[in-house]
Amino acid sequence: MLNIVLFGPPGAGKGTQSEKLIQKFSLVHLSTGDILRGEIAQGTPLGLEAKKLMDQGILVPDEVVIGMIKNRIEANAAAAGFIFDGFPRTIAQAEALDTLLNGRNTPITCMLSLKVDDEELSRRLLERGKASGRPDDQDESIIRRRIQEYNNKTAPVAGFYHNQGKLVDIEGVGAIEAIFEALCDAIEARA
Ligand code: AMP
Repeated sequence: MLNIVLFGPPGAGKGTQSEKLIQKFSLVHLSTGDILRGEIAQGTPLGLEAKKLMDQGILVPDEVVIGMIKNRIEANAAAAGFIFDGFPRTIAQAEALDTLLNGRNTPITCMLSLKVDDEELSRRLLERGKASGRPDDQDESIIRRRIQEYNNKTAPVAGFYHNQGKLVDIEGVGAIEAIFEALCDAIEARA
């Protein structure tokens, strides 16, 4: 079983590369951002609560996203593996994911961390906001808040996987195909 954490700041290209990786390796894509936006679209109580935080660029509580991931893993018991995209975003989430996966004897294979500088990230997010209509991509102060949340709470998660010998840095600026090749090479070296 292949369990990949695709890591990087907002706008690093996690969504784009996940789409390509799930096809090549027949994996199930678990994006907590997409799941939360689905809850908002359905107008569920969870979605309404989460929206208040997401629209400000603030992380939603750990127990909310951990519960969502647990349900999805259990619902896809026959999967060849998972790509975790936008999760884990805190050390508590990473610990909970380890507990969940180790309990099933299917630990994380590796964390692939896309490296993109802050200026390029802001440029990409504002550009994406025009097409996606996502409120959190359209306002520079919210984008700055998301990058701040990333630096404070999420960046330390790379250290968590580094300590397990599972962290691989990947250059995230360049042609989409070239970045995809680098991701595939890193996965195949560890599969
Ligand atoms: P994303 O689509 O991954 O950029 O996520 C959009 C927003 O959803 C984030 O700014 C957070 O408010 C929320 N979110 C998504 N994933 C998580 C997570 N793992 N932990 C906490 N909040 C999350």
